[in-house]
Amino acid sequence: MRQLMWLRSDLRTQDNTALHAAMGAGPTIALYLISPQQWLEHDDAPCKVDFWLRNLVELRQRLAELNVPLLIRRAPHWRDAPQVIAELCRQHAIDCVQVNEEYGLHESRRDREVAASLEPLGVRLRSHLDQLFFPPGSVLTKSGSYFQVYSQFRKICYQRLHTALPALVGLPAPQAPLGIASDEVPAAVDGFATPSDSLRQLWPAGEDAAQERLALFAEERLAYYQDSRDYPIVPGTSQQSTYLAAGVISPRQCLHAALRGNQGEFDSGNPGAVSWINELLWREFYKHILVGYPRVSRHRAFRPETEALPWRDAPQDLLAWQQGRTGIPIIDAAMRQLLATGWMHNRLRMVVAMFLTKNLMIDWREGERFFMRHLIDGDLAANNGGWQWSASTGTDAAPYFRIFNPISQSQKFDADGRFIRTWLPELVGLNKRDIHDPSAMGGLFGLADYPRPIVDLAHSRERVLQAFRSLPPLE
Ligand code: FAD
Repeated sequence: MRQLMWLRSDLRTQDNTALHAAMGAGPTIALYLISPQQWLEHDDAPCKVDFWLRNLVELRQRLAELNVPLLIRRAPHWRDAPQVIAELCRQHAIDCVQVNEEYGLHESRRDREVAASLEPLGVRLRSHLDQLFFPPGSVLTKSGSYFQVYSQFRKICYQRLHTALPALVGLPAPQAPLGIASDEVPAAVDGFATPSDSLRQLWPAGEDAAQERLALFAEERLAYYQDSRDYPIVPGTSQQSTYLAAGVISPRQCLHAALRGNQGEFDSGNPGAVSWINELLWREFYKHILVGYPRVSRHRAFRPETEALPWRDAPQDLLAWQQGRTGIPIIDAAMRQLLATGWMHNRLRMVVAMFLTKNLMIDWREGERFFMRHLIDGDLAANNGGWQWSASTGTDAAPYFRIFNPISQSQKFDADGRFIRTWLPELVGLNKRDIHDPSAMGGLFGLADYPRPIVDLAHSRERVLQAFRSLPPLE
């Protein structure tokens, strides 16, 4: 029974459910589709596309060790996928196509259409749970609906994890060679610029690189995670989001690494490990939300009443935020970190998102799109969840009246200004008191190279509070 392993966001050989199933069922060929038109529609960042390509080069090698050829085909848009895959199945006499489930609306539609096009050929599409610990729809409230509150969702997850820990899937044994050559992985795809070498070096490709990073984190940093995770200058978080988003590492591998570092405990023992597992469950939560509340994939607010908010049309302010020249150092430093590295620290993602949506009162969808276009770890569910949380339009949203003051956040989480100095060389000479708000230095001490704040924090805070208070109650 010939198998086709259709790779998507699962670019690894170890602990890969569908690959394991395919190779257990028969001789296997692997496939990856290059879909630039679709990727552009999804605002996938050039650095993310480059990361996929670099990982495919590594994966091709790992698959070759298993004697699995990797074929690369172009399906510019996912609507082209059914025809491309059906053609390949005919050509190679495939009996079954194996995939790991993906959860966006477009992904689900693509898979339905591919399955329908294969049916007349007598080819099955078999999908597997792999990106998540629990299938969406299996963690529900007593009344059978999806949870809207993370802490309640997490409680059920813990109960399940205690009774049935998702097991790792072994590396399949090599198969007999099929005599089919692997395709070359393109070095670049039109429409997606190759990022700088310095960005690429921050994110080495391949399972080994991901595993090394995970092991280093679990051994040296996990124990201190809870205390260090909020300080952007400290390498206190795992930086696994990039590898998780592309599936170069699995959430099960992350969970098992955390448990190994915590004597097998989930919710007790080392507070660092517990708090990190909680983050893996945030990831899980937002993917379940994507399936349970599909409107969030359609650019709609999770809380419909917030659709009436009078967002400002302020292109100059938006541009200043995007380019990191708002005159608020912590915001500008964070945005420059994003532009230079494709990644931003979680604390700062919240701070810049609140600043855009609350102080500048610009629609969260603008921020969501800009993040997606620049993040190497861009993930629809987590990004949408993070933006809607910050804008107070989402699940578990920050109450609208709790608005971060970016300067206080800066003083608290970058107290000596080291993060700011790393990204804003123009402020390198300021002391740790002035660096958070150079505009407050007043008098003759204006900085020639650094703008004054584009918005008054106190006034803009009142403006957005008033807008939220004026929202009509939902019928
Ligand atoms: P760690 O602290 O080491 O956490 C481990 C893993 O848990 C992460 O790799 C990630 O997979 C998951 N995780 C952690 N925090 C969250 C969270 N709040 N929501 C969902 N999953 C989480 N994360 C993305 O992976 N992709 C995105 O596009 C994304 N966009 C975001 C946008 C905004 C406005 C906000 C506030 C958060 C966003 N996040 C996103 C969540 C979070 O900021 C990143 O997952 C985290 O910074 C990644 O760094 P890390 O791997 O070192 O995290």
